[in-house]
Amino acid sequence: MTIATRPDPHALLDGLRQGRRADLARAITLVESTKAEHQHIAQDLLRLALPHTGKAHRIGITGVPGVGKSTTIDQFGMNLIAIGKRVAVLAVDPTSSRTGDKTRMNRLAQSPNAYIRPSPTSGTLGGVARKTRETMALCEAAGFDVVIVETVGVGQSETTVADMVDVFVVLLLAGGGDDLQGIKKGIIELADIVCINKADGDNLSRATRAAADYQAALHILTDATPEWHPPVLTMSGLTNIGLDHMWEKITAHRAALTASGAFAQRRSTQAIRWMHAMVQDALMTSLKQNTVIAARWPALEAAVHSGRTTPQDAVAEIMALFHGRAA
Ligand code: GDP
Repeated sequence: MTIATRPDPHALLDGLRQGRRADLARAITLVESTKAEHQHIAQDLLRLALPHTGKAHRIGITGVPGVGKSTTIDQFGMNLIAIGKRVAVLAVDPTSSRTGDKTRMNRLAQSPNAYIRPSPTSGTLGGVARKTRETMALCEAAGFDVVIVETVGVGQSETTVADMVDVFVVLLLAGGGDDLQGIKKGIIELADIVCINKADGDNLSRATRAAADYQAALHILTDATPEWHPPVLTMSGLTNIGLDHMWEKITAHRAALTASGAFAQRRSTQAIRWMHAMVQDALMTSLKQNTVIAARWPALEAAVHSGRTTPQDAVAEIMALFHGRAA
């Protein structure tokens, strides 16, 4: 999408608050743009939008390709719309291995009460994460009650998504026999809710057994918060069985954490970590924009690569250059 000259952030905010999808799309395009002038407008817009953010359920959903994320989100989203919610679906996929996301969730894509945005395409996980967080804020300002952030289990993307949502749902499949295989270590530790999907047809009994195995395994782990022990559910996104239960758990999780104060704590901790990540990004950008440092950088990397210079000495020299001192 092209961006008209000098969009006015006040007008854009008004438009998206009134439910004009074209304005929401333009706002997100500004957030995703790498052009400095667009970034300035995007930051103005986000500042204006801030008082209207924070009310949505922020739900992360992860699972390997084929586990049934799109099928589940399509159905789950329709169920939420049926109870009066408006649902935004964002994706975090730094590999951008997915194309045509809209067609993956057919019914949601056609609903006026849903908004689906594929993963921003550019580069690093940090960059994709920033854009997704900012897009989430815009969706909240636009009045979406539920924002689902979907990610495939690539690299660090689960951790990144878990750190921007209120509740993190991990979808798994029942494998053959004894389970727990093929699961990246650490993902289960991020899970607030575990769902064994495709618990239908011939697969039902295996899914039920797998759920019991995971439940036992989760007992060994220390809970991230004392007020919540991650439940293991069976469900079938395809036949819409158990999705109501998943929503019940999501709302129960929010209620339990809200009552203890952990909910607000989680959001503020996330905001602080987010600030730190942005400071690191901003500093790296400043370093790279410094022409003296940029000129010296390849030689320093080469020196560290060959072992002629220690990483510490290279950092000391870069910092000295950054502060305008001779090394
Ligand atoms: P994603 O890659 O995680 O988004 O998975 P998809 O939603 O694209 O689903 C992958 C395949 O599994 C498709 O052929 C779906 O029809 C099928 N599938 C998804 N959910 C279920 C389910 O609950 N039960 C069964 N039997 N099949 C499912």
